[in-house]
Amino acid sequence: MRSPFRRDLVLLQNLTWKQPNGEVVVNPLTFVPCGLDSVDVPAYRYLLRWLFKYRSLRNLVPHLEWLHDPVTLLLTARGCTENCSVCGGSRSAYRLIGERDRPALRSPEKLVEDVRVISTFSRAPIFVVHDPRMGGLPRATRFFSLLERMGTQNEMVFELYYPAGAGFFELVSRSVRTWSIEITLESPDEALRRRNGQFPWSNAVVEETIQEALAHGCRTLDVFFMTGLPGQRYEDALAIADYREHLLDRFGADGRLHPFVAPLGPFLDPGSRAFEQPQFGYRTFCRTLEDHRLAFLLNGDELKWPVQHRFRIGTTLLRNLAAGLALEIHHTAARLAGRYDVAPAHATRRVERA
Ligand code: SF4
Repeated sequence: MRSPFRRDLVLLQNLTWKQPNGEVVVNPLTFVPCGLDSVDVPAYRYLLRWLFKYRSLRNLVPHLEWLHDPVTLLLTARGCTENCSVCGGSRSAYRLIGERDRPALRSPEKLVEDVRVISTFSRAPIFVVHDPRMGGLPRATRFFSLLERMGTQNEMVFELYYPAGAGFFELVSRSVRTWSIEITLESPDEALRRRNGQFPWSNAVVEETIQEALAHGCRTLDVFFMTGLPGQRYEDALAIADYREHLLDRFGADGRLHPFVAPLGPFLDPGSRAFEQPQFGYRTFCRTLEDHRLAFLLNGDELKWPVQHRFRIGTTLLRNLAAGLALEIHHTAARLAGRYDVAPAHATRRVERA
């Protein structure tokens, strides 16, 4: 590398690069913008220009299955106000890794412009990353009123980080024709949720939120649970199956409620409290990027659960057990699927055979 170029690299904020002799240089992380409007992420206009130029989406799709399930997303913020223990995008993780004290937000105007651009090339659902209320209710209200004015035909999928009542869901149902909700509950155990910072409200409040969402026309409502959480014991994990059944008994009659359960993985998120703080009870086997790269290169057999998850051992729930438990709960789910319209028949048979 010629020296003038190297001198320029030194000036680039946030850049990590290598000298010709292999020495790694880490420039100071000094560019931490407080808003996201100066850059388009994802860059849907670029995608459209590419489409017109090359008449093909093949080089742009984010993963192989995308053309079958072409969901798009709105990135409403970089960073998060919440601090869930297993999340690498949490408040403390961004502070540790990105020198960021508060989320950088994308304005409602930019978000709705993204929706308009997406709707010119896709009728697929648009997933809104982060609870739309994360930047405050006035911002959320502005976003929904702009959406209403625009009148998109695409289904909008919203994440909820906090409980919501009739007022919020009226706002949503006025703004978009078709909408769905995702709630990551992780566990039915209220104390465990409080400890891990994930949806730290009571189950009664969770169920009121579900009830209001369904009453206001939510098309599908996904609730996500996990095995392998910090502090989760064997019986806590199994309780997911009972709570899942309870939710389906109460709300599952018309097939709109979909509770899911999965083991935490494939890796602990670097930067998350669970990864960084030993008191959460994990022993990490993969610390560096190279560790993670090598773990992904294990041969096919080893990549299957639970060996793929050799990165960690919770003090309360051993790593292999986390995978086995998720499978056991899936078996219950498969049996329940016969009673409730929550999974296609072929998926149910696949779980039953596992
Ligand atoms: S999991 Fe928690 S910390 Fe992570 S993005 Fe979601 S709400 Fe924020």
